[in-house]
Amino acid sequence: MNIHESEKIAGILEDMGYSECADESQADIIVFNTCCIRDNAEKRALGNIGAVKHLKKINPQLILAVVGCMTQQEDAGLTLRQKYPYVDIVLGTNNLFELENCINKLRNSKKKSVLIDPNERPEVREGEKVYRTSGTNAWLNIMYGCNNFCTYCIVPYVRGRERSRKMVNILDEFKRLLDEGYKEITLLGQNVNSYGHDLADGSSFAKLLEEIAKIEGKHRVRFMTSHPKDLNREVIDIIAQSPTICNNIHLPIQSGSNKILQLMNRHYTREYYLDTIDAIKSKIPDCGITTDLMVGFPYETEEDFEDTLDIVRKVKYSSAFTFVYSVRRGTKAALMPQIPPEVSKDRITRLIAEQNKITKELSKTYEGKIFEVLCEDKAPKKEGFVCGRTDSGRLVTFKGDESLIGSFVNVKINKSQSASLFGDIAEE
Ligand code: SAH
Ligand code: SF4
Repeated sequence: MNIHESEKIAGILEDMGYSECADESQADIIVFNTCCIRDNAEKRALGNIGAVKHLKKINPQLILAVVGCMTQQEDAGLTLRQKYPYVDIVLGTNNLFELENCINKLRNSKKKSVLIDPNERPEVREGEKVYRTSGTNAWLNIMYGCNNFCTYCIVPYVRGRERSRKMVNILDEFKRLLDEGYKEITLLGQNVNSYGHDLADGSSFAKLLEEIAKIEGKHRVRFMTSHPKDLNREVIDIIAQSPTICNNIHLPIQSGSNKILQLMNRHYTREYYLDTIDAIKSKIPDCGITTDLMVGFPYETEEDFEDTLDIVRKVKYSSAFTFVYSVRRGTKAALMPQIPPEVSKDRITRLIAEQNKITKELSKTYEGKIFEVLCEDKAPKKEGFVCGRTDSGRLVTFKGDESLIGSFVNVKINKSQSASLFGDIAEE
């Protein structure tokens, strides 16, 4: 989501006549698109903002802007202005579209801007310019914001309530992206399964997927993120039946302990989650299932953590994003008693080791088989090799040249190494 938002920022700048430069020392403008989901993301953003101060001395005309989630936190605008007085423009998540005006104001009258609109339900904007950077895949927002208020999470505070785009606008953009040659489109939302609930026209995620599945052509559709409480059987059936919607579901569980799930305000139990997983596996046997996991949430005991390990063993995720809980100011969990960092550190190490073991085992099952891969890019640091993903979302590296990028190829997997799969283009 952050990447796609940066593409929108770049779209605004491109429209104003700016173009991408190779190095920040050559830049006329630097925009920091911040994230505050965890403390380390925020620290990194602040570190990066601090690291360009010297550039402003070399080039006093350089424009520095800070946008994104971090700016929308309470007092963030003020703190940024005090700590980083050389920043010219600070925009909240609802004010991004004002970037052009702010740049013009700065150029014409040297006036700095700090605009942070606290509106929790701003109007959904359409027709935004996008400077796409993601190769064969294009990101497509279907909704903004979140209503869930998981007790650890800052997103609802900095991104406001759920606002869905009208289905017709999403479908239009989808078709336009295919016309432009994108082979894969990823639908984005904090909880895509509640898409349409705020529209009075009966739209739902199932209906949207159904319409998308009707669009003919050779392309792939992915979506993220699904909330386990809302991913229903109808959606699973549509994925199972559609050749274009990938057999790949990201279903963040966070914790395997019912006690912790309740404290997190996730609105599902481990049993309900496992039922959904069973439904997915029976309808879509080759589905790649991935997740987000968190350790060290307040009150998490060794037993609760064992429940998380148990879920990981039961589900057999193809991969997982693993996080140590990070206190976010203003959230409910910030007021709960925190557990010692060394305990979290020990748990995250054990969790990663467990998941790695499973990823490795699953990778072995790919060996000797042929998969259709959408070739996405040159393989990093491997001359003469390219890489792409299977329908289930697994990354495959194989011998080939750049002319393959953007095409579908059948690849026979000969070797696996942890999460990596290696193969050769299969003979016809
Ligand atoms: N809307 C999505 C995910 C949004 S954030 C969902 O509900 O699944 C992506 C992931 O960051 C979350 O799934 C969670 O695992 C992690 N995360 C969010 N807040 C966090 C916090 N305070 N500390 C650590 N991890 C966090
Ligand atoms: Fe955060 Fe929960 Fe919303 Fe995801 S569903 S963005 S974790 S509040």
